[in-house]
Amino acid sequence: MKLSNSLTRTVEPFTPLDPAHVKMYVCGPTVYARPHIGNARSVVVYDVLYRLLKHDYETAGGGKVTFVRNITDVDDKINAAAVERGITIQALTSEVTAQFHADMGALNCLKPTVEPRATEHIAQMIALIERLIAGGFAYAAQGHVLFRVQKDPNYGQLSRRSVKDMIAGARVEVAPYKEYAGDFVLWKPASEKDDASSKFDSPWGVGRPGWHIECSAMSEAHLGKNFDIHGGGADLMFPHHENEIAQSTCGNPGSHYAKYWVHNGFLTVEGEKMSKSLGNFITVHDLLEKGVKGEVIRLALMSARYNEPFDWSQKLLDDSEKMLNRLYRKSPESRVQSPVNAEILEALRDDLNTPKALAILQTLEDEALLASANFLGLLQQTPDGWFKGDSAGEDTLWIEVQIEARNAAKKARDFAQADSIRDLLKAKGIILEDSASGTSWRRS
Ligand SMILES: [Zn+2]
Repeated sequence: MKLSNSLTRTVEPFTPLDPAHVKMYVCGPTVYARPHIGNARSVVVYDVLYRLLKHDYETAGGGKVTFVRNITDVDDKINAAAVERGITIQALTSEVTAQFHADMGALNCLKPTVEPRATEHIAQMIALIERLIAGGFAYAAQGHVLFRVQKDPNYGQLSRRSVKDMIAGARVEVAPYKEYAGDFVLWKPASEKDDASSKFDSPWGVGRPGWHIECSAMSEAHLGKNFDIHGGGADLMFPHHENEIAQSTCGNPGSHYAKYWVHNGFLTVEGEKMSKSLGNFITVHDLLEKGVKGEVIRLALMSARYNEPFDWSQKLLDDSEKMLNRLYRKSPESRVQSPVNAEILEALRDDLNTPKALAILQTLEDEALLASANFLGLLQQTPDGWFKGDSAGEDTLWIEVQIEARNAAKKARDFAQADSIRDLLKAKGIILEDSASGTSWRRS
């Protein structure tokens, strides 16, 4: 397999540190709002990569693949959203996490091996910050702890910017407790009005971690100091990923952190930047509610190379649906074990060339088509189910994540949301039954 490595700016052959155990970390969602299609693009991209790694190193290679994707459940945006909605942080984060699972499940994205939550790794973050202070790479000031960027000779290696450029770019906050404007926050003090579930004891007072330290601590906890692939959106390269490298390599002298840095490109909508103010902000849930099938969204997101810019449009959605209709028309009703088409695997091994893989898919017939489409997360329904208008959500996993989302909504006392999930399931012939032991379901 070959992958574009942002660290070297070249397409490199992929050689895992340990071929018997491939390790990948991807920055996951900050759970304050339902995922939009830009978030979904990233999740689908790494789902395709994970499926390929599983095929090559588990099914064909006899080893294993560990895929870690975190949940950021402590963040300024979360605090603000919880206050705005008048609910606790915990209620908000459990609700949005369940919605994230439901929406990504509808796109047939596999669950990662581990999904660590930031709030469950505070001790590891504090330990890493203490090592950075001991090594002279960080300092405490006025309840904050800051990373001393000028102490790291390799700072800027990923984004290829000098510290001076970064400051000139005015992306740094000047603050009296900083020794140097480019220094970034590892820990910050809590304020009086903060919700208790976002406050943690530390050697520097009650506070909470900075965002960057979360990923350094969680990747180390689940993958070790060095691992193979680190993924995320191109918008995270600076400062988030640059800062992760600085923290992890300085906190663990002699380590290199991730070997391959993979970044997916930006997403626009009909040629424009997606934003709430432009009124073109699209969530996955919006599309599903309008009756767009999950597989159609997934196929659309796979239609461009992962590292290129991507333009979302109604035409793309229409074309994707037509293509799926054609594929379902020639797909066999019954499932037979069949190998994945070799040319599709080759296309994906060539830096995840999904457009080429999809072009090849359209030339296949019968079992070869079904096995290869399933491998790509497509044709998960029977042709009969597809054309009768059942949504992608017919499968058990999707139903279960909807139930999880409904339970989280009830816990957050968002009964309108809970009822809308029950109604959505009912419309698909799924009846929920609540009892003391939990919620069960049956088909009507
Ligand atoms: Zn991250």
